[in-house]
This record gives sequence, structure tokens and C-alpha cells, in this order.
Amino acid sequence: MAFALMSLPYADDALEPAVSANTLSFHYGKHHQAYIDKMNAAIDGTDHADASMEAIVAAARGSNQGLFNNAAQSWNHGFYWHSMAASETAPSSDLAAKIDEAFGSMAEFKEQLKARGLGHFASGWVWLAEKDGKLSIEETHDGDTLADSGFNPLLTVDVWEHAYYLDHQNARPAYLAAVIDHKLNFAFASENLARGTAWVYA
Ligand code: MN
Repeated sequence: MAFALMSLPYADDALEPAVSANTLSFHYGKHHQAYIDKMNAAIDGTDHADASMEAIVAAARGSNQGLFNNAAQSWNHGFYWHSMAASETAPSSDLAAKIDEAFGSMAEFKEQLKARGLGHFASGWVWLAEKDGKLSIEETHDGDTLADSGFNPLLTVDVWEHAYYLDHQNARPAYLAAVIDHKLNFAFASENLARGTAWVYA
């Protein structure tokens, strides 16, 4: 069964000025759609045709790089759209306590996430993740994902140039500040933490 491009959980101008409707028209409407289309083409008529996206990511890792890239990027982008909100939402008391424990404060967490995003060489993703009750910032390169990693991903930020070039040109710090200071969906992160297992693409 072919996967559909998920619906965005907000209007296409909801993330402005951090992420414009114009960027979403390409990043969601073209890039994410292309990953979905290529994954669907790759699984059509195979043993993966009726599998979940998460199962496809795990099965393709290390054995089918082309399928892995498109399935992981399909998953990562779905997770990323949910990781942002029109205005920053509040963390649960449990998430707030774990952020304080791991990073000292919410403000310090944001500074560390920005620094890791800025320092990430070339294309990839920076994540807030949980493992064994502890939070950490993780990075994955290119299309790699935490979907099948043993971490429970809580939030992600896309640091591929296509995520910010139309709005911020080469200024990755401006994009990171605009998203991380104003648009992170801590309600989504809190749901992920409370569930205790990795989010499922839908
Ligand atoms: Mn992207």
C-alpha cells in the first residue's frame, strides 16, 4: 500500500517568519513529496509493500541505501513538521524537569541545540532525544534518522540548506534562532516523552 504525504498540522503560513509558506511549498510540497514518491516506487511489488514506514527504515538500513534514504527522509520530514508549531508550546512538567536535569535550563538547552545545528557539517538533522530516561542532543547526517535507533526522538530540526535557503539564504544561525527560539512544539515533544516509544508516521 502506497504511503501518502501527510497533511501539515498547520496553515502553510503558520511558521512565518522562521519558515515561510514559500519554503513549505518547496520543502513539504516538493522535497517531502519526492521522498514519499521514490519510497513508494521502491517498495511497489516487493516484500515491503505492506510494511510500516518504520519497519522499512529498519529493514533497509545497511542493506538498501537507496530505499533507506527515501524512507528515512519521509519519516524525518513528517517528524520535523510536527516538531514546529505556529507559536512555541509549553513542555509538560516531566519534560521541563528532564530538560533542566540534562541542560541546566530551557534557555541553555536552546543555546546548545543552536550550537549543534550550526556546527553540524553539511546536511543533516539535530534532535532532542531520550534514552533510559535521560535527554541528549543527537545529530544524524544526510538522511539518517533516529526512527529505529534505540533513542526516543522528541524533536528535530532539519539543517539541510533546502530548509532555510529561500528565507535566510546561507544564514543557518538565523534559521536556527527563528525556529528554536519561537517555533518548537514542546507539546509534541511531551507526547513523545510520555509515550516512551518512537513516533509513528501517519
Ligand atoms: Mn528537508
